[in-house]
Amino acid sequence: MTVPPLPAPEFGEPYLLTPGPLTTAYSVKQAMLRDWGSWDDDFRAMTRALRNRLLAMIGDGAPDYDCVPIQGSGSYCVEAMLGSFVPRDGKVLVLANGAYGLRAAQTLDYLGRAYELLNKGDYLPPRGDEVARILANDPAITHVLAIHCETSSGILNPVEEIAGATQNAGRKLLIDSMSAFGALPLDPVALNCAAFVSSANKCIEGVPGFGFVIARKDEIANAKGNSHSLALDVHAQWATMEKTGQWRFTPPTHTVAAFLHALDLHEAEGGVPARGARYTHNRDVMVQGMRDLGFETLLADRWLSPIIVTFFCPADPNFTFQGFYDAMKGRGFIIYPGKLTVVDSFRIGCIGQMDEHVMRRVVDAAREALQDMNVSSAAPPAAALEERKKLAA
Ligand SMILES: *Cc1c(COP(=O)(O)O)cnc(C)c1O
Repeated sequence: MTVPPLPAPEFGEPYLLTPGPLTTAYSVKQAMLRDWGSWDDDFRAMTRALRNRLLAMIGDGAPDYDCVPIQGSGSYCVEAMLGSFVPRDGKVLVLANGAYGLRAAQTLDYLGRAYELLNKGDYLPPRGDEVARILANDPAITHVLAIHCETSSGILNPVEEIAGATQNAGRKLLIDSMSAFGALPLDPVALNCAAFVSSANKCIEGVPGFGFVIARKDEIANAKGNSHSLALDVHAQWATMEKTGQWRFTPPTHTVAAFLHALDLHEAEGGVPARGARYTHNRDVMVQGMRDLGFETLLADRWLSPIIVTFFCPADPNFTFQGFYDAMKGRGFIIYPGKLTVVDSFRIGCIGQMDEHVMRRVVDAAREALQDMNVSSAAPPAAALEERKKLAA
């Protein structure tokens, strides 16, 4: 693909190697340079286009599903999905292996919906056989919530396995595909998925401001009156959009305009396969370069997502995350702290308007940052490698 003029260096802005907000194309930012009236026909047409184009991305399932955008960040959509589709007397099996799974469980606490938490710790994947066992032992569970890519470690969770176990047990599947949809295939029909969520500022490469729920039409119809929340009621938002073409409350007009242009770029690039291929190549180039410097990834290759990668901090006493962060930022790259509880780590995102050339510069910057800090070896401490053995076990 031809990456449009890379935005960041020209303006002295650093690249965001973070999984959203991320580095967007200059033309995506330019698409926001006018104002739209929220009830005007022009903006209503934009909302319709947004919904239709997202549905087109799920292919054959589109006729049975509908798309409901919701104002706010991705977590608002997760909360809207849980509050709207889980009946008040329902019970959710939450599959957690990181911050976003735990946040979903916390959301259910707030909503007062019952749940069972399968907490796999910092990164171990929830497997299909475990899900099957839990569902067999607890007939009260009505829904399973899976995180597609758990962005806190970067692990790509085995959603097909989980979907198979859920379907076999006759329960409903909800997916948080926030950091995966648009770059990784997600076929809700094949997965028998009741609803999933994603947001504007991840793999579609828009700016933050809204997320969207894609749900089976019969699930949306059944959700009437179920939500605990006025603003996060998926059925009510859907009903108003169907009837008037409008969002119920002030829409993020500029974000929608930017997103439509981001969808143009997504399509021009070749859609989900091409976007996923670019991110995968970004990851491969970056991971190889970092390994050549002596860094080690938390995850074995099989579990590495093309979205974000966790590296162990080097054991060398001269290494500090803050020093590394500052040295990377000085060279034009914003990295992300790690979220592991047991050992120190940092993360590098592979998504956004970046290609392999940028990723090579990331590796160069990391090499120079180590030199700045007088770190002679990027090898992690023994405790990190011990931790990683758990994944192989
Ligand atoms: C980004 C993300 C969310 C939503 O986070 P917000 O900060 O509310 O946008 C939820 N789940 C996953 C897996 C994510 O990557």
